[in-house]
Amino acid sequence: MTTEHTQPDPQACHEFQDQLPELIGSGQPLGDHPHVQTCENCRALIRDLETIAEAARQLLQTEESEQEESSGDGLWERIDSAIKAEEGASAKGSQRE
Ligand SMILES: [Zn+2]
Repeated sequence: MTTEHTQPDPQACHEFQDQLPELIGSGQPLGDHPHVQTCENCRALIRDLETIAEAARQLLQTEESEQEESSGDGLWERIDSAIKAEEGASAKGSQRE
């Protein structure tokens, strides 16, 4: 048995992992990369990275919403009045007869 098609190529993995920061920075879906589709090693690596990224995102969201509570009242009021204005406009539109 010399054809082990599941055997990852360490050189390809190294090149792929070299490109990882660029791929993440470009916002491309990492799972679409041809190397990932053939390499279980790097698939697992990306799963780990995505778990970390997701945790970081939730952490950021928590911080952002805390900041909004203390300083974003004006912003929420603007959004709220914009929604009400839109509701009023559509209500007027349907009642216009
Ligand atoms: Zn790999």
